[in-house]
Amino acid sequence: MNRQKDLSTPVQYVKGVGPSRSKLLARLGINTLRDAVFYLPYRYEDRKTFKNIIELKPDESAIVVGRILKTNVKSLNNYRKPKLDIFEVIVSDGTGIITAKWFNQPYLEKTFKAKDKVIFYGTVKTNYWMTGIEMLNPEFEILNRDTLSEENLHLGRIVPIYRVTEGLGQRQMRSLMNSILTSAIPYITDPIPSEIVHKKGLPDLRESIEKVHFPTSELSLEELNSGVSIYHKRLVFNELFIFQAGIALLKNLSNKNLGISFSPNYKYIDTLLKNLPFKLTKAQERVFAEIIEDMKASTSMNRLIQGDVGSGKTIIALLAMLACVESGYQAALMAPTEILAEQHYLNICNLLNCIDIKVQLLTGSKKIDSKNKTFEIITKNKADIVVGTHALIQESVVFENLGLVIIDEQHRFGVMQRALLKKKGLNPDTIVMTATPIPRTLALTLYGDLDYSIIDELPAGRTPIKTILLDRGRQNYRFKFIEEEIERGGQIYIVYPLIEESEKIDLQSAIKGYEEIKKRYPDHSIGLLHGRMKSEERQSVMERFKEGLIKILVSTTVIEVGVDVPNAGLMIIMNAERFGLAQLHQLRGRVGRGNRQSYCVLVQGKANDDSRKRLEVIANTNDGFVIAEEDLKIRGQGEFFGTKQSGMPDFKITNIFRDFKILEEARQEVLSFFAKRHSLAPYPELIDALQYFWGNRIDLLNVG
Ligand code: ADP
Ligand code: MG
Repeated sequence: MNRQKDLSTPVQYVKGVGPSRSKLLARLGINTLRDAVFYLPYRYEDRKTFKNIIELKPDESAIVVGRILKTNVKSLNNYRKPKLDIFEVIVSDGTGIITAKWFNQPYLEKTFKAKDKVIFYGTVKTNYWMTGIEMLNPEFEILNRDTLSEENLHLGRIVPIYRVTEGLGQRQMRSLMNSILTSAIPYITDPIPSEIVHKKGLPDLRESIEKVHFPTSELSLEELNSGVSIYHKRLVFNELFIFQAGIALLKNLSNKNLGISFSPNYKYIDTLLKNLPFKLTKAQERVFAEIIEDMKASTSMNRLIQGDVGSGKTIIALLAMLACVESGYQAALMAPTEILAEQHYLNICNLLNCIDIKVQLLTGSKKIDSKNKTFEIITKNKADIVVGTHALIQESVVFENLGLVIIDEQHRFGVMQRALLKKKGLNPDTIVMTATPIPRTLALTLYGDLDYSIIDELPAGRTPIKTILLDRGRQNYRFKFIEEEIERGGQIYIVYPLIEESEKIDLQSAIKGYEEIKKRYPDHSIGLLHGRMKSEERQSVMERFKEGLIKILVSTTVIEVGVDVPNAGLMIIMNAERFGLAQLHQLRGRVGRGNRQSYCVLVQGKANDDSRKRLEVIANTNDGFVIAEEDLKIRGQGEFFGTKQSGMPDFKITNIFRDFKILEEARQEVLSFFAKRHSLAPYPELIDALQYFWGNRIDLLNVG
């Protein structure tokens, strides 16, 4: 029997599901038995005990069950407001009466009928005339139309509440999940090696799955709802074990590989260090030493460099590239945006003007013609250092002898892109750099296939940036900041948000802002920068801003990462409430690079309490760490880690912050498991699970 096959059976073939329901389930991402197993309830309801309606108190949330006495549709035709349809259902449970109300949802009329038995879940309110109680938009279930034999699935117990979709009600969903799980459970095998299950005293996996979907009455509702029942924890452990095992395999794969053993002679490195206007910080020195050691070794390097915005990662990258070039190989630096690639390119050319090596820029926006030329330069080994965007990983780009690959702002790229760029060389050394400040253990986990260095020190003499919240209306303050900065001889960024969904309007407001500033400050040179401009135009704007010829640069978010103009001392961020916290931190990091006081002004457009709170987080701390944690809480982990675009697998059950301890436990178990064994062959269930979780991201044939 093939386990994999059985759990991958489409749910359509389960009795009672069929083609039309399976279409609805597919909308929820449930296609196979296995998908259903991992589709957990997001909430549970205690339906062991219903409240008597007569005992309900205002403002408590409660579940009541009763029979519908009648339904009404009322229209409110208030002359001041648009017409409002109110649909009412009046229910009695024998002890009292409660009214459920919905606004402008006329289709509900067809849903409820008098004499139906229903469950309402919602917050109890006193009605307008204070004569009775009501619930507004309660969650509901209609009980009596289906067969009553299923009652113990829906009543008299703790019931699971799933996310559902139009056309699929809670009650039906629950029945479907029950049938599907009944079919699926016999096929479930535990991927965790049995010795680990015993050692840790983990509950049985099948039982855990059953109980997480249909908990028995003795379980704590509170634990279930926060996802920390022993059964939830077991599933989290499984997921994290599989995750870590995959990472360990990736790491083994890349570490076992022999790489280039570089032999730098420090010719270029020393020249550069001598010509730098500053000394490396202790942290930079340490990290560079770690890199050199790795590069000299005969195994290939895979190292993550983490350092907050402004900690000086670029220079480290450049030094490493010089070590590579000195040893006779080419080095490539890949950045997430064209602007940043162009920036790095200009920067590097500047820093290297004392050194005779060839640097080449390659981005997507170049015309084919000049691109072909670029390819040739790269191929024929005429370029020592190539700086580019993901254009670097196109098939047509061929390197003569690529020795070192550096990826900037790692959070924008994923495992896959890293792998693609590496393929351009014969197992080149790899460095990835990120400003996303995540706890060390977490970094080890998420980037567990990499070694890890941290630049935990900012260059001396930096004055912390002062951040000010400003309402949009207070224009005069904004202009005052601008004028003061100009007086001090500094330069200014004014940044407008730009997101895909409203790209056109966003671009317009940036351009409008630019025109306004130009009109107001006719004596100063003002620049405009956005992604729609030609690469050459952008480069020239950036160059003139760097040289101080442009005083005020109005731009869209294209400058978010990496751009470096130390003389800029004021950053104004328009409609700051539309940015994510980490993004604001990155943006703000564009100033405060010189040693005088810098300012960041966050201008709020339409702000509410929530967005004000978020902006206050930014205003109150410069600590990227604190900001990252807040950001994670607000945005959720999927988006925070950019798992979607980065090729990291999605967690279905785990919440990294909640389950931090389990993450550590699983990591320990994986480490000791792999320390003892070389082959996974005796663990077919583990291989199955790895395949499902990681998909084709791990080439299991190679794992052996
Ligand atoms: P990030 O880590 O955000 O990429 P950068 O590499 O862009 O930071 O460096 C930020 C600024 O700090 C640059 O202007 C760089 O020249 C400067 N810098 C880097 N290292 C030092 C140092 N040791 N002392 C002073 N300034 C430094
Ligand atoms: Mg950088």
